[in-house]
Amino acid sequence: MKRLFKKLTKAGNLVVMALAFSYQNTQAQSQDQKIDHLISQMSIEEKVGQMTQIDLNLLAVNGYQNTDGSLDKEKLKKAILEYKVGSVLNPVGRAYSVETWHKIITEIQDLAKKTPNKIPVIYGIDAVHGTTFTLNSTLFPHNLGLAATRNEDLAKQGGNITAREVRASGIRWNFSPVLDAGRQPLWSRFAETWGEDVYLTKQMGVATIKGMEGDGLKNPTAVASCMKHFIGYSAPRTGKDRTPAHIPDIILREYYLPQFKAAIEAGASTVMINSAEINGIPTHANEYLLKEVLRKELGFKGLVVTDWEDIIRLHNRHMIAASPKEAVKIAINAGIDMSMVPNDYSFFTYLTELVKEGQVSMETINASVKRILKLKYDLGLFDNPYPEKSAASLFNLPEYGAAALQASRESITLLKNETLGTSPVLPLKKNAKILLAGPGADNLPSLHGCWSYSWQGNNSKYYPSTTKTILQAIEEKTGKNNVTFYGSKEYNSEVNFATESIFKYASSFDFIVLCLGEDAYAEQPGAIDELALPANQLNLAKVAISTGKPVILIMTQGRPRVINTIVPGVKGIIQAYWPGTKGADAIADVLFGDYNPDGRLPFTYPAATGDLVLYDHKFTEKIQETAQGFEYNGYKPQWPFGFGLSYTTFEYSPIKVNKKEFTGNETVKISVEVKNSGQMNGKHTVELYSRDLFASVTPDNKRLRKFKKVAIKAGETVTIEFELDKNDLAFVNKKLETVTEPGEFELMIENQKVLISYK
Ligand code: BGC
Repeated sequence: MKRLFKKLTKAGNLVVMALAFSYQNTQAQSQDQKIDHLISQMSIEEKVGQMTQIDLNLLAVNGYQNTDGSLDKEKLKKAILEYKVGSVLNPVGRAYSVETWHKIITEIQDLAKKTPNKIPVIYGIDAVHGTTFTLNSTLFPHNLGLAATRNEDLAKQGGNITAREVRASGIRWNFSPVLDAGRQPLWSRFAETWGEDVYLTKQMGVATIKGMEGDGLKNPTAVASCMKHFIGYSAPRTGKDRTPAHIPDIILREYYLPQFKAAIEAGASTVMINSAEINGIPTHANEYLLKEVLRKELGFKGLVVTDWEDIIRLHNRHMIAASPKEAVKIAINAGIDMSMVPNDYSFFTYLTELVKEGQVSMETINASVKRILKLKYDLGLFDNPYPEKSAASLFNLPEYGAAALQASRESITLLKNETLGTSPVLPLKKNAKILLAGPGADNLPSLHGCWSYSWQGNNSKYYPSTTKTILQAIEEKTGKNNVTFYGSKEYNSEVNFATESIFKYASSFDFIVLCLGEDAYAEQPGAIDELALPANQLNLAKVAISTGKPVILIMTQGRPRVINTIVPGVKGIIQAYWPGTKGADAIADVLFGDYNPDGRLPFTYPAATGDLVLYDHKFTEKIQETAQGFEYNGYKPQWPFGFGLSYTTFEYSPIKVNKKEFTGNETVKISVEVKNSGQMNGKHTVELYSRDLFASVTPDNKRLRKFKKVAIKAGETVTIEFELDKNDLAFVNKKLETVTEPGEFELMIENQKVLISYK
């Protein structure tokens, strides 16, 4: 009887599944048919309008001078009715309240209803570590800090909370996540990356996308994500933003492409294109990358949007188009669907002409418009284009702060903890007398970095009044009497670099805590010529060290500023990246031992500005003549990729593998025991690396293949298991194919090694 019931249920399930499948299919079909029908009703102008994205300043009263998000009715009519624009982006200059956003979106959608086919507008925004442009939103650590957590759940949670707060603001398209590999530490957008490793970028990027889109685009907890910036943007030769990269195909495919491939497989809806040029070809004109690689090879079906002004720049910066109109022709024919114009209507005019002249085919236009309309359908904009009540109620919930705090805590990476007397200097006791100094001590922007309530993130007046500075967070732990700060809230105020107070007062304190690093900056304004920490900060540290008092450094920064001259003199170093809304609390938690740090560097921290060798370097990457002859394999950073101390200690047993040889599609099971041999409970990330001993293309020194983060109680031992197959050990060969060649591989976990071979 039971069996029969089971069978029937199974059969029933199959029927239900089949019905659901056919329902979904019919849904998809009918949506497809609706879109085709809609396209057949649209004029050329309406189609080109859909492909046009403008900046909000074109609609705002006083344009770029606008401060309150008020819209100009005539400008609105011009954009929506005359030019039929399909998309708008960004605020003017600064974050708005949820209410202001709702007003803006409502006014725009009201007018879109008056267009012949009533096509809703899709609004896009940069919410890259939380909802940048909505006041009182929750900001997470930037991707670089999140990568240090090695916690994919936190990345997913961050993506989902961001999606909720963006959607609560009435917006359904987020230009995030960055998937560019951070392999050039001078680059001013390094903090937006997940660091130098491909696998880490892939895992964290995919988790973020799932967090944003996973609930289904119609759901009030989801937004469309945007992979950016396809591809090679993060590797400018000079380190300056939007400058040329030279990336041979084999390198592009090895270090820059896999994360986009994985993100597409995870269902990312849209992609933004790299503003710069690779090998002399601006990416916006690179038909090979946009069509052959992105569409055919990676199978991407979603929407392709340009970056800021990047079509006209084919004419006025890259000089490959003799006129702005030719620039439009090149970009659209190369595979662009939507132009972030964004400051005029020239794109609309040129593209309309080009279509009428037959220089851009109607087929090309229809394909792009179809992708744009599909996204609008998927996001439910055709059902209801207005801010949704159900979404608005999900803004700024208490659990978001808790998630941000946990992310900030897990990002913090302890780089140095020297013994003072009989025990390590950190954590400090809460009754210790602290002299606090440095530009980051009482400052909010340097805890948040770029894209924080404004593009540059450097305007404190838009930050929530509840966000704490490091000074405030320390005061909460120790009481005001135990901490003294003589500086200013303004990062660059001279008093923050003055050394007199340190000399004068140091003797009355137990410790000097110095908050150094970088102020907030974004994109080109963040360009630097020198990776070393600025001289005034190094000087401050040297003076502090010279007092003989133990000095602790807290570094809040978007890239690894070189500090080799002060590292030996300070006793403790806490690397906090740009940790966001709860960053100061997390720093104070680590400083005083309320949280045991577990972050691991997602990049190689260079010891010298002229020595930017990455952890996965080639054997011959650095050859140096020494007294003994030639020295190879000179990876000598300040701290290697993956470095991070804890207040407890972890010991590893030898690695066990279930087979030493494997073939075909077999998997190898790898396990290791990890013991928390110290006194404090702690989380710990176990990282599995591999080294291909010999290969037809020079193998990398080592590569991260898997990681797992676990909580281990003091005294406890846990077993960590991994599984590898041949794909995990693959590389790009001379024919640009991703292959695993037979041979030996060394597997490495911390100080343990084992050899396996693939036959
Ligand atoms: C940036 C993009 C961003 C866009 C829109 C550009 O300057 O490169 O990452 O999405 O602006 O704000």
